Amino acid sequence: MEEKRMKIFKFFAAVAAAFVFVSCDRKIPPQFYESLGTVCFINLYDDGKESVYGEIESCLAKIDSKFNVNNEDSEISLVNKNASKSPVRISDNFAFVLKTSLETAELTDGDFNPALGNLIKLWGINTDHARVPSESEIEEARKHCGWRKIAFDKTDQTVFLRDDKISLDFGAIAKGFAADEIALICERNNVRRAVIDLGGNVLVLGEKKDRSQWKIGIKNPENPAGEPCAVLNFPAISENGKTCSVVTSGVYERFFIQDGKRYHHILSGETGFPAESGLKSITVVCRKSIAADALSTAFFVAGKERALELKNKAENLFGEKISLVFIENDGKISSSLSDSEISLDFINQM
Ligand code: AMP
Ligand code: MG
Repeated sequence: MEEKRMKIFKFFAAVAAAFVFVSCDRKIPPQFYESLGTVCFINLYDDGKESVYGEIESCLAKIDSKFNVNNEDSEISLVNKNASKSPVRISDNFAFVLKTSLETAELTDGDFNPALGNLIKLWGINTDHARVPSESEIEEARKHCGWRKIAFDKTDQTVFLRDDKISLDFGAIAKGFAADEIALICERNNVRRAVIDLGGNVLVLGEKKDRSQWKIGIKNPENPAGEPCAVLNFPAISENGKTCSVVTSGVYERFFIQDGKRYHHILSGETGFPAESGLKSITVVCRKSIAADALSTAFFVAGKERALELKNKAENLFGEKISLVFIENDGKISSSLSDSEISLDFINQM
């Protein structure tokens, strides 16, 4: 009899605990987090439960602890320190980002270069010690930016650096990877619609409540805080798990000015200087944010003509349609939209 009473008690205790848990998981407004060197904005709309936002926050912290080169305990810092001595075993996420980086480098013949760490540190753009380095400093850094010296062993999941001064940097791809990971968290938690904006690396998921199109503005490089100069319209994304990401790389994002000249943060491994390819910005639209992020940086360096040449190959590499919007130095806006459902409205031709 005693045993039966105990069972009933345990049953009601479990129901009460579940009730407390569910009622604690309250809805909260959209959240801002500082992570990945930027401000991340997440809106989960009607499904914005505290627990899901919490999972997203931990995911961002975990990714930051892998790819932050300014944290000496991050996985990338440990690889940079040790992987020229002997092969270093890397995590699944690190291996995936490294593999995608090397494939993008191969596709663009090094315009996208995950081994630019030395040059990036030397210029110090977005730090308080940004400056134009001397020619000899640039030459020395350029000698140790050979991405082909990164040996990635897929079977053992190790990386070996065949140059003891080489330094990896995933600043051009980590936010895209993070956006895709957050989209997976949303799907697992049955979030019906979401906007994930990691410092301008935007991903939308699901369908808007009123079923209208998603609209994402493209910043005016001359006045990034003002009105967008064009707006991309997307169909409602009703298919479960389907996402759409829009990522821009541009001269106005991170830069410093010395002697009246602007030096931006996207570097050419060829020249050792900020890339000058005739573009003020390029926007890449793709279902996968990691592809949009890697390609926006790569195609910014490559320039419009080569980007258009490489677009088909990029679509084959990532297995997704890719659309491009260019803003050239003279202000001309043009596009190559692969998806017939996407349209572009011009607000301000510059
Ligand atoms: P994004 O804003 O995505 O275009 O990435 C720019 C960031 O990627 C820079 O702040 C650097 O950390 C890194 N980076 C700069 N130039 C390159 C390049 N050519 N290839 C790969 N990463 C780069
Ligand atoms: Mg990028």
